[in-house]
Amino acid sequence: MAETCKSCQDSLVLALDPEESGDEGETVPDDLLLPCGCHFHWQCLLDQSASITSSLTCPSCSRYLPSNSAAAGGSSSSSAAQQQQPTPEILTHYTNEGGVQPDLDIYPTLAEEAYLAAHPEARPARAFHTLAAEGEIQGMVELLTDLDSPAGDDDNDDADREEDGPALSATQILTWRDPLNGGRSALHVALEAQQEEAVWLLLWLGSGARGEDFPEAVVQVAQAMGLPRRGEGLAAGEDVRFVRDERGRTAGDVCLELGSPWTRLVEGGLFN
Ligand SMILES: [Zn+2]
Ligand SMILES: [Zn+2]
Repeated sequence: MAETCKSCQDSLVLALDPEESGDEGETVPDDLLLPCGCHFHWQCLLDQSASITSSLTCPSCSRYLPSNSAAAGGSSSSSAAQQQQPTPEILTHYTNEGGVQPDLDIYPTLAEEAYLAAHPEARPARAFHTLAAEGEIQGMVELLTDLDSPAGDDDNDDADREEDGPALSATQILTWRDPLNGGRSALHVALEAQQEEAVWLLLWLGSGARGEDFPEAVVQVAQAMGLPRRGEGLAAGEDVRFVRDERGRTAGDVCLELGSPWTRLVEGGLFN
């Protein structure tokens, strides 16, 4: 194949880690084709996410990339969305180890990368939201524990990290609103994914809900994991129950949208 990456000029494959593949020198395809006809490695393109999302042009040939025109919006129902520009759509053809994705919109990934490059402190918070959506409560607890004990044992670039700005505390992560996801908190995300264990964990760690409002099974798990009730004495702004997303919804509002059995949390007074 003659095509090479427009950024690094290497062939459009990715070398596998021999320790994982068991085979020295094995490669898999890694070919991201932009609408302009230029090819890139996935990571090589993401490395230029900030300039692409601001210019919306190919970093190699400078052609305009979005496939939707600015007139595409307009049919949206919410007034807030009407004031915004329609989100650009950059349809690519991506071939990797998993196969071919013929109409992959790369814009959301680029926007996320650009945001995280400018706001590195948001990276653990985004990871925390992903864990909440997957109901990975062990991972959520570990992430918060690591934040509270910054030993720096897994990284040798502490100097770099300090330049990135202040890291978020565990309390800040619990109430962090994701600008890339409608201002949702981890509790919004866990509720919408209907991850019940994650929902209870977030309420346990991040709310002032009364102890008797928690099911006995939840209390037992939390105590077995040695989890503190952080919630007691929280200010209203630090209580996960009262964080609103960009549409003004609290977690209780999400429960009412979801319907049974989630409405029972609201009816039981947990969100009062
Ligand atoms: Zn490359
Ligand atoms: Zn191009």
